Amino acid sequence: MEIYRIGVLEGDGIGPEIVAAAVKVIGAAERSCGLELLDWVRLPVGLEAIRQYGDPLPKATKEALQNCSGWLMGPHDSVSYPEVHQTGRNPSGELRHSFDLFANIRPNRTLPGIDSVAKQADLVIYRENTEGFYADRNMAYGTGEWQVTPDVVISAGVFTRKAAERIAHAAFQAARSRRRHVSIIHKANVIKLGYGLFLGVCREVASQYPDVRVDDYHIDAAAAHLVRRAGDFDVILTTNMFGDILSDLAGELVGSLGMAPAINAGDHFAMAQAAHGSAPDIAGRNIANPVGILLSSALLLEWLAGRHGDSRLQRIAEQIVRGVEGAAAAGIRTADLHGTASTSEFAEAVIQSMDRF
Ligand code: ATP
Repeated sequence: MEIYRIGVLEGDGIGPEIVAAAVKVIGAAERSCGLELLDWVRLPVGLEAIRQYGDPLPKATKEALQNCSGWLMGPHDSVSYPEVHQTGRNPSGELRHSFDLFANIRPNRTLPGIDSVAKQADLVIYRENTEGFYADRNMAYGTGEWQVTPDVVISAGVFTRKAAERIAHAAFQAARSRRRHVSIIHKANVIKLGYGLFLGVCREVASQYPDVRVDDYHIDAAAAHLVRRAGDFDVILTTNMFGDILSDLAGELVGSLGMAPAINAGDHFAMAQAAHGSAPDIAGRNIANPVGILLSSALLLEWLAGRHGDSRLQRIAEQIVRGVEGAAAAGIRTADLHGTASTSEFAEAVIQSMDRF
């Protein structure tokens, strides 16, 4: 029987709490399907890795990931790392760059039983993940920022045809198994060359998918439209920074940022990583909402199921989603949703809500 090696990188802040919950829930989902397919490989990252190896993303961790099918990545609190680790890429930027995880896929949908600003929404953001204004990953060497004088900084955005083409194809393909509607979000009226290239290439790709409806919005208008009528959006196709910002907004619109899942996917690897950060303000108290990382884990398993043509992984993913929906429908809530359940109590409720076979 094929075994899939899954890396586990706990990260900082609430990372260890939510990743532990995810590993427990995935194991329960696997057992409830009568399967034993996953082999966990624990690898240090972040502050733990600095303590052990003097490096937030040690070479040994990156090498071990080469032998994994995918991995769960907790958030990192890189602003709290010692000065010497402040230059260069942070751990997830480095992993996205070196494993060429070009698509950051971030679904947001309202769940029955969860109070939300958006009354009904089911959208997915396809965020370009390798360039744009993210100076830590848009260069082959060094970062795309220069301090000319103490009071003058130049930050470069990088936009390429290749990056726009592949994220656009990913988005349009996804739309075909959804409501066949892609919205391109940009700012081509101001950043005319960079976002102009992005928009132009996305439109070219759109012409290859005549069965998919396409429209486009400037980022500022898109933010307003999302708040007013999130339910009208299906697939959002956008650049690195806008995707980052809109996914926090969309996460809150459907309940809480703590519920927002994501995977970072390339042609060969995928990394599950909730859209939120390390939430240092609530770390170590067992009160973080684990839904984001749980649904990210389900996305990773779905991605692996597609890549390996293995429907058993899809079944495990469906069990996790069913468990989360069941716990939400039963009224179990963590503090961010004004509930009293701890992270581990919520995870237990997810497990209890899974189907028994
Ligand atoms: P990053 O830049 O790494 O994305 P950030 O500083 O933008 O991080 P977060 O760490 O995501 O921000 O935290 C933003 C707010 O959301 C904080 O108040 C935090 O407590 C809350 N938050 C984030 N994730 C969760 C979660 N899983 N459960 C509950 N609250 C969360």
